Amino acid sequence: MPINNNDHKEVLLSVQHLVKSFPAGGRQTLTAVNDVSFDIYKGETLGMVGESGCGKTTCGRTCIGLYPKTSGTVLYKGKDVHSLRKKDLKQFKKEVQMVFQDPYGSLDPRMTVAEIIGEGIDIHHLAKNKEDRTKKIYKYLDLVGLNQEHANRFVHEFSGGQRQRIGIARALAMEPEFLLLDEPISALDVSIQAQIVNLLVDLQKKMGLTYLFVAHDLSMVKHISDRVAVLYLGTLVELAPSKELYDNPKHPYTQALLSAIPIPDPRIEKERDSSRVRLEGEVPSPINAPKGCKFSGRCKYATDSCRNEMPPLKDDGKGHLVACHMVK
Ligand code: SF4
Repeated sequence: MPINNNDHKEVLLSVQHLVKSFPAGGRQTLTAVNDVSFDIYKGETLGMVGESGCGKTTCGRTCIGLYPKTSGTVLYKGKDVHSLRKKDLKQFKKEVQMVFQDPYGSLDPRMTVAEIIGEGIDIHHLAKNKEDRTKKIYKYLDLVGLNQEHANRFVHEFSGGQRQRIGIARALAMEPEFLLLDEPISALDVSIQAQIVNLLVDLQKKMGLTYLFVAHDLSMVKHISDRVAVLYLGTLVELAPSKELYDNPKHPYTQALLSAIPIPDPRIEKERDSSRVRLEGEVPSPINAPKGCKFSGRCKYATDSCRNEMPPLKDDGKGHLVACHMVK
């Protein structure tokens, strides 16, 4: 049964009860992703947010088969991502691409930009001949706001924002349908972040791409996401259409995350200060996660039932899902 109330749209990626654990020494296991379910619809951007250590990157990477799952299912176009073989696997690796957080570490410094972008074109035989290959490389450079003169340079000659553009061009060269954007702007200067977000929005419109945009704060995904999923300690605590989530956050953790976004007006900041929901303490270790609601140790509304029973993720019937005992 689909978890989200968007049955009329075409599901591209369906994640059902996904669990991803790692051995943590001795008999201990670290459950980074704990029974997470959501769908991603063709052409949309799903933002996935949470503090460091909430499992969002692990979730994204497990969804695209970079990590094996522990249990649950991830279906891409109806096929189990973790059981793909031969032709299907090759096609999946072409259609599903990733843009990394670190534009410095994710590009090979020994390769020219043309070699970096051309690599995927060669692996998947996407160019008819050498001339066509060069034409494609120039096309992708142009699409990301770079130009032909950049093709024969090495990555150390570029700024952080330009390197991220190269990383995006490398992903586009595979002619993908789905991009996992793993904190693609967090390592960049604030002044550059908006440019990269605008570029991603533009490319999505032009190429009909679908995004899973992972970020650690809600302000980063606000302008790009159709829907936003909030993760806390490996569990999905809230998922809603973007505007609804920002206007009407229901989970205390989401409220705290939103409250932490600074408003660039000192008068409003001062007025807001008394009503601010503060997020105190650190995310606890997933090895010793609380038994009931994972947020109970930091939640000012926590009761005994919160500490003992995990709240189920409930849909309000309009696609706003929340896992909190307090929300009826
Ligand atoms: Fe807080 Fe309880 Fe809701 Fe968890 S279930 S967020 S502890 S009120």
